[in-house]
Amino acid sequence: MKKEILNRMKVVQGDITQLDVDAIVNAANKTLLGGGGVDGAVHRAAGPQLLEECKTIGGCPTGEARITKGYNLKARHVIHTVGPVYKGDPADAEKLAACYRNSMELAVENGVRAIAFPAISCGVYGYPIKDACKIAVDTVSERLSRTPSIEKVVFALFSKGDYDVYTGYINAFSD
Ligand code: ADP
Repeated sequence: MKKEILNRMKVVQGDITQLDVDAIVNAANKTLLGGGGVDGAVHRAAGPQLLEECKTIGGCPTGEARITKGYNLKARHVIHTVGPVYKGDPADAEKLAACYRNSMELAVENGVRAIAFPAISCGVYGYPIKDACKIAVDTVSERLSRTPSIEKVVFALFSKGDYDVYTGYINAFSD
């Protein structure tokens, strides 16, 4: 992978809702009406107006993404995407990659220059972190090479274990 692309990706451990970026991505469910995990954290941090806006959207199919305002977050936007529930069949990987692609697409359309992703589908939806990390980083880096307007993509991992998987995968490209 080109150094220029690697330099535009960053891995951090912590709460995605606290990041000072233009947009954070929410691993939502198809209703877009909130839930547990990162979804719950995003709604709590953004405030009740986020749910009000989400109610007007009418849900989102797996693999697609929708954008709202960020309300009380530092981020101006929340990009809600619905990851696949992991079943172990080949369609899972395509749907997860689509989440990253469609989120990047919405980011570009809305002038986002810095965006943060959680580990979509890697909580309740059960996607193995190593497989999901490869899909996330490969899909994002491929898009970055064709998307000069996005300056920075932050991968925000909640657990140390997930953080280690991402740093291990990305660092292997610069060795
Ligand atoms: P999904 O239903 O897509 O699996 P989850 O919210 O259950 O979504 O989990 C997705 C990932 O987000 C998990 O790795 C989980 O540890 C992580 N996570 C939970 N809360 C936060 C948060 N506040 N910031 C960043 N990541 C989070």
